[in-house]
Amino acid sequence: MAYDVVVIGSGPGGYVCAIKAAQLGLKVAVVEKNATFGGTCLNIGCIPSKALLHASEMLAEAQHSFDALGVEVGTPKMNLKKMMAHKDATVAANVNGVSFLFKKNKIDSFQGTGKVLGAGKVGVTGVDGKTQEIETKNIVIATGSDVAGIPGVDVAFDEKVIISSTGGLSLEKVPAHLVVVGGGVIGLELGSVWARLGAKVTVVEYLDTILGGMDGDVAKQFQRMLAKQGFEFKLGSKVTGVAKAKKGATVTFEPVKGGAAETIEADVVLVATGRRPYTDGLGLKEAGVEMDERGRIKTDGHLRTNVAGIYAIGDVVVGPMLAHKAEDEGVAVAEIIAGQAGHVNYDVIPGVVYTSPEVASVGKTEEELKKAGIAYKAGKFPFTANGRARAMLHTDGFVKVLADKDSDKVLGVHIVGFGAGEMIHEAAVLMEFGGSSEDLGRTCHAHPTMSEAVKEAALATFFKPIHM
Ligand code: FAD
Repeated sequence: MAYDVVVIGSGPGGYVCAIKAAQLGLKVAVVEKNATFGGTCLNIGCIPSKALLHASEMLAEAQHSFDALGVEVGTPKMNLKKMMAHKDATVAANVNGVSFLFKKNKIDSFQGTGKVLGAGKVGVTGVDGKTQEIETKNIVIATGSDVAGIPGVDVAFDEKVIISSTGGLSLEKVPAHLVVVGGGVIGLELGSVWARLGAKVTVVEYLDTILGGMDGDVAKQFQRMLAKQGFEFKLGSKVTGVAKAKKGATVTFEPVKGGAAETIEADVVLVATGRRPYTDGLGLKEAGVEMDERGRIKTDGHLRTNVAGIYAIGDVVVGPMLAHKAEDEGVAVAEIIAGQAGHVNYDVIPGVVYTSPEVASVGKTEEELKKAGIAYKAGKFPFTANGRARAMLHTDGFVKVLADKDSDKVLGVHIVGFGAGEMIHEAAVLMEFGGSSEDLGRTCHAHPTMSEAVKEAALATFFKPIHM
């Protein structure tokens, strides 16, 4: 049977693309090499990490906040096995949900490794080694990404002592000392999980800041908050070795600016230095599909590769490696294939760090605006001046709104604080519609909510906030 679309990979890019294409009346198949659908995000990424982040955050709340709220529960205790069972059940519910949606939308699935045999032809090698060919009018490559190591350093992952994020989601006991190589989102999220469960966490980061690329104000404040939670930071440090020791492992690093090397001991080392696009065994070279210097598949503004009928989306192409970016590209490409006008607005893709407190951001940072020479106004409002934040004992953090100096159009919003990951979406919607900070500051916000801080930060860009 010939298909309209064969999608290789069932992560948030691939599965969303398949469902949307089927909803648009196309005949769709998905090829997935894993035993379950959902890709990195549902199996070993967004979903399991958030289950552990939530559970460990509840423990920390019970330990540190309940008493002040007048809630007495005795001494809260961690049950790691139960926490992991909750994580596994959450993953199962999500991956089974994708299976259900495939059936509901009459999407065929092939379990095996997909290979592009040329435009219109996909080969599938099953787990039993048997191969088959599928004919299709269009191919969508959505093969995602894989763990990247440390450039120039030999890292022997065993997922017990020297671990990637995947091992970091399944440790059997809390390490006394966890060294995290990489102060990006994944390292800080997983570091937070294990810190709350009792580990001492040291983060070794190459840059002079954590969360490289985030607004500098936010990153600085966030680092102070994590330091208060017990995190230790070795910034501006280049890791030159990660080695297994008799007990645990060692991490050796030296100052980026030059100086003496230092070696620290760890029970577990989490290497969270980023991810690489995954195209292994896809046959792209033979099929003539062009890649860039970083191994990503090259696409045009319509997610088309240089070979007619072959598209690529998600982590395997340029852009932020985020599930919702992959999903939006999945929808866009399905619409394009169906003859509609699919489109992704790359200027308004929110990014969230699901720590406690959360960090969320959309649009340009202050540093980016300065670099681009754009005249802007900044308005800031702290949660210490927000009634709801006080009532919930969540007064850490602030909202920052950046707007164009002349037109008042909102160019970026950055939040560090409880619930930032939910609040950021009012800014995203506003920006999608080209709204101004006055639009935001004059929009009635329910009281008392954390979101009032967003309104007040907007007011601060063109006049004065009321509560400060
Ligand atoms: P993937 O999800 O990587 O899926 C690709 C799929 O393709 C996989 O199932 C793979 O098995 C399959 N595949 C690969 N090659 C073949 C082949 N040849 N044949 C058949 N199948 C193949 N993003 C967020 O937005 N929010 C978060 O909170 C978040 N948390 C994260 C936490 C962790 C620990 C990690 C590791 C990542 C996290 N991410 C998060 C990133 C997010 O997981 C990715 O951006 C997202 O999964 C990318 O989706 P994708 O569809 O491009 O690829």
